[in-house]
Amino acid sequence: MDYSILVMLLKNLVILPFQEIKIELKDEISKKIIKVSSKKYNNRVLIVSPKNESLTPSIEDLPLVGVIAVIKSKIELSNGNLRLTLRGEKRVKILQYKAFNDDIINAYVGDIVIPKFEAQGEEVIKNKLRNILKEYIDLMPNISNSILKIVEDNDDLDFLTDAITTFLPLKPIQKLNYMQEVNSEKRALSLIKDIKLEIKHQELEEKIDNNIEVRLSKEQEEYYLKEKLKEIQNILGDYNETNDDIVEYYQKLQSLDLNKKTYNKLNDSIKKLQNTPSSSPEHAVLKSYIDWTINLPWNILSKENLNVKSVLTKLNKSHFGLNEVKNRIEDYINIKSLNPLISNPIICLVGPPGIGKTTITESIANALNREYYKISVGGLNDATELVGSRRTYLGSMPGKIIQAIKKCNTRNPVILIDEIDKMIRDYKGDPANTLLDILDSNQNKNFIDNYIEEPFDLSQVMFVLTANDVKDIPYALFDRLEIIELSSYNIFEKVDIVKKYILPKIYTEFNMKRKLIIKDETIMYIINNYTKEAGVRNLERIFKKLITKLITSTTHMTITEIDVKNYLKEGEKLENKEITSSGVVNLLAYTNTGGEVTRLECAFYNGDEKVILTGQLGEVLKESVSVALSFIKEKNYVSNTMFYNHTLHLHFLNSFIKKDGPSCGVGIVSAILSRLLDIKVSEDISFTGEISIKGDLIKIGALKEKLIAAYNVGIKKIYIPLDNEKDLKDIPKNVLDNLEIKAIKNYDTIFNDLFNKEKK
Ligand code: ADP
Repeated sequence: MDYSILVMLLKNLVILPFQEIKIELKDEISKKIIKVSSKKYNNRVLIVSPKNESLTPSIEDLPLVGVIAVIKSKIELSNGNLRLTLRGEKRVKILQYKAFNDDIINAYVGDIVIPKFEAQGEEVIKNKLRNILKEYIDLMPNISNSILKIVEDNDDLDFLTDAITTFLPLKPIQKLNYMQEVNSEKRALSLIKDIKLEIKHQELEEKIDNNIEVRLSKEQEEYYLKEKLKEIQNILGDYNETNDDIVEYYQKLQSLDLNKKTYNKLNDSIKKLQNTPSSSPEHAVLKSYIDWTINLPWNILSKENLNVKSVLTKLNKSHFGLNEVKNRIEDYINIKSLNPLISNPIICLVGPPGIGKTTITESIANALNREYYKISVGGLNDATELVGSRRTYLGSMPGKIIQAIKKCNTRNPVILIDEIDKMIRDYKGDPANTLLDILDSNQNKNFIDNYIEEPFDLSQVMFVLTANDVKDIPYALFDRLEIIELSSYNIFEKVDIVKKYILPKIYTEFNMKRKLIIKDETIMYIINNYTKEAGVRNLERIFKKLITKLITSTTHMTITEIDVKNYLKEGEKLENKEITSSGVVNLLAYTNTGGEVTRLECAFYNGDEKVILTGQLGEVLKESVSVALSFIKEKNYVSNTMFYNHTLHLHFLNSFIKKDGPSCGVGIVSAILSRLLDIKVSEDISFTGEISIKGDLIKIGALKEKLIAAYNVGIKKIYIPLDNEKDLKDIPKNVLDNLEIKAIKNYDTIFNDLFNKEKK
């Protein structure tokens, strides 16, 4: 049924069916509408909420759904306003608006008829709505749950949706949408969605709240503590450095024989400290600076022992061999005795790990009666670590050099700078250049650490550097160093080291009265089967383990091979496995751990005409392969047509180790020829030498290391370049006696020995 009713526009306010609202009307038109409605329209008025919030929306903009409201009460207030209580009754559709001259709008409205929702579906929706509402109310700490009773007691979806919409803290625009949505099912689904969103928000808010709470309580605690501190400071008065400390600083300063500038600087700093309140942040910075600077050994020198005999006795007692180092120290003492002003040598000990570089340096310090300190520079990429950072930086400190000096508390210690070949040059600068300034005797008399800021004399320090590989020593340093290359120990030397150094050391350490009874062959068995190293570090560890087992499990002190097997796990056995096919040869390499025997395998098969190389090869090694191939082809050792439509693959074993260098050239030629001619090369044979494109053998380095490694695994015959023949004088006799060494000029010799079918 259509009827006419007066329209009241409510901006920013929505009324829903069943909802009661209280409003105060100021404007005359609204008041008039209410008056007329009360009289002529049975206390009913049509509430329309325009979406458009402009003050005077045009009729065309008005929505086509409104809510009929009952005027429940109206009171005229003394200020002339009209206070109303309205109660929403029902939604109606607006068929037509009509505006009158006096700005009052009339509307023709009709009831809304919505097809009834399928009963089962409606039930599901209602339950869902009730449940989610309950969940929401449970989550909200400050919300009344009275609505729950209402929704439990009523079953009409129209009512339920409107009641819940009224209850929820929705935005006006959301409420308006609910008001204008005539379909209760649609409203219910939207409500479920909106409540879910509200739940999510609430959970998130709670999470954030929790965090803020924790933070707040921490801040509060800090605040509280600061206040407490202030109180204490007030009671104590502002605490300054006690006079005692200041007096001590001044006394210390007087006792130091400093140059005037440094003296003044420290004097000023102490004065400043006296006047800086201890609560000021500058106080700690200043105090730390004075402590560092005033306590440096500005004038403290150890009295050096320059007695050659006593020094050498000590060095011989601590270390086997290493004669070049010992000789250099002897020279140093002799020269220093003649001219005490001579500058210290900058010795750089180069060689594989575990051969005594560090410990001999410590022994040198000890024998010369100097203090000793070790600085590691492996991986160092920031020069400030050596020379300190400026005091303006937070947490600044002197660099490693000044720290070493302070620890030694003398200005003539032996400082070991370890692993100079592993320093890294990057965007932060080149530590090698900084190191050069530190070592250079022309400059280091006035060494300035960034933190200390005053020149400190390093000229009496004896610097000893170490590196594993000469070629990795930074170029800037190389020229200035006295390089002493140390090689790995052969098995006989190792046996000596065990008997004369390692065992006595362990006896003392373990406080043992009875000595071990062990044959040289057993020591060799241990060396060969349980260690694979250039030095003796693992050997020492193994003997410690053996002796610990022995003294804890038996009373006798004899060790045989059988005992060794019982006490130790089968270690990595150094074997020279049999070569069973062509295309495989033993190569001799020099790595960081000393000499090593490795294998080269060569395959040759139908395929694209190409060469495959595997096993982590450096550029020089790759070039060696090209040279080897060109040599073989030019020399026509095999028919060149063999290479057509064939792939050649060379694999250098131990592929996890990077390999480079030219000395495998001869071995490469031999492996390829062995494969192409299908003639096996015995595992008793090995090769070392660079190959020229004409097949000449070119001199190589580290011959001693390579021959020792070959000998250790039982190789019998080795081809070396003729030019290396003169190096054989440095090879230990036992090694030479057990190896057949063929020093040759050109590859032809090897070809004739190994691959000449006519000869064979
Ligand atoms: P590096 O500095 O070359 O890596 P270390 O000085 O640390 O080697 O020596 C490792 C271990 O081997 C030490 O315990 C050391 O005493 C022992 N050692 C090394 N070389 C010798 C040697 N020539 N004589 C006696 N012991 C040695």
